Amino acid sequence: MNSKYFDNAATTRVKEEVLNSMIPYYKAEFGNPSSMYTLGRSARRAVEDARKKVARLINSDSKEIIFTAGGSESDNTALKGIAHRYKERGNHIITSKIEHHAILNSCKSLEKEGYKVTYLNVNKEGLVNLEELRNAISDDTILISIMLANNEIGTIQPIKDITKIAKEHNIIVHTDAVQACGNIPIDVKKLGVDLLSLSGHKLYGPKGTGALYCKSGIDINSLIDGGHQEKGKRAGTENVAGIVGLGTACEIANNSLNTHEKYLRKLRDYYISEVERKIEDVELNGSKQLRLPGNANFSFKGVDGEGILLKLDQVGISASSGSACSTGDPAPSHVLTAIGLDDNTAKSALRVTFGEDNTVDDVDYLLNNLERIVKELRIK
Ligand SMILES: *Cc1c(COP(=O)(O)O)cnc(C)c1O
Repeated sequence: MNSKYFDNAATTRVKEEVLNSMIPYYKAEFGNPSSMYTLGRSARRAVEDARKKVARLINSDSKEIIFTAGGSESDNTALKGIAHRYKERGNHIITSKIEHHAILNSCKSLEKEGYKVTYLNVNKEGLVNLEELRNAISDDTILISIMLANNEIGTIQPIKDITKIAKEHNIIVHTDAVQACGNIPIDVKKLGVDLLSLSGHKLYGPKGTGALYCKSGIDINSLIDGGHQEKGKRAGTENVAGIVGLGTACEIANNSLNTHEKYLRKLRDYYISEVERKIEDVELNGSKQLRLPGNANFSFKGVDGEGILLKLDQVGISASSGSACSTGDPAPSHVLTAIGLDDNTAKSALRVTFGEDNTVDDVDYLLNNLERIVKELRIK
């Protein structure tokens, strides 16, 4: 399939197989998984089957998977759930300046409750500094939350090194792996993390679905009070169809991870080398090596990223810019500012994120239009 959609970090198209696996649970198989009769038991089986598939993608035990309504809820549950559960141990949390707002705003909210938060700096490539992390740790530190891969610049953090340091001090580690899941191999045991967030709609599954990996032995307070679903860690009747869809998406991701990763990398590397060859005064934001396979983020100096977006949209292309403008905030992105870009360079950024529907022809179409648009905007 051809696609001019280059915003796969924002969301992805639900796969046909994913949708097909969900439909029965909106129709004949509509039972409540908590019910004892046959219809309920069938829904329960579907939920538990999906749990195994999610667990397999990250090499965890299925008992360690909690279903949520998406990445934001998983992040909120991890941070607030741990902070509240372990507050007698201490009140200090360490995170980074380039986290998703689901993390940053959870931290803000915890700060209002009296928790202390350290926001680690990142270097030009978007990487946290392990020495700075070591120095930030105190007797009060209960949790470190650092994302596995960044949604804007694609930088992949050294989580293994981070968990190693954390373990020396008995500190719990959470990672937001929403962008990484389905795009790079993930093994929670090798990473050494205690909690990990993932989201359905970033890996060709349905929106409003997600999961939180919570290592056995780690307890969390529930964000939502109610019934005893998800072992008391997430109340509410399960989104059975959504959970089934998430399971199918994870199963497909797990089976095609290698080819998927290679394919995205090919498109990305082609795009990066062609942009650098065809267009002057560009700068690749983030790390060249430690980068998600489908992410390319360039600043086109002297041009407004929003302006590029509007003109790309006129020729049917979807991408994303370096400001939060789309959400009504004119400020440059906190991620691009944190890697040291001045406001103008940050606002000249264009994020292109490839997905499995994109072809080399699509990338050529994007490149030709981009070359023309940047030229036009620079003449003005
Ligand atoms: C999209 C995203 C989220 C939020 O996930 P939702 O399912 O949209 O709530 C959190 N973290 C990162 C890194 C993301 O890219």
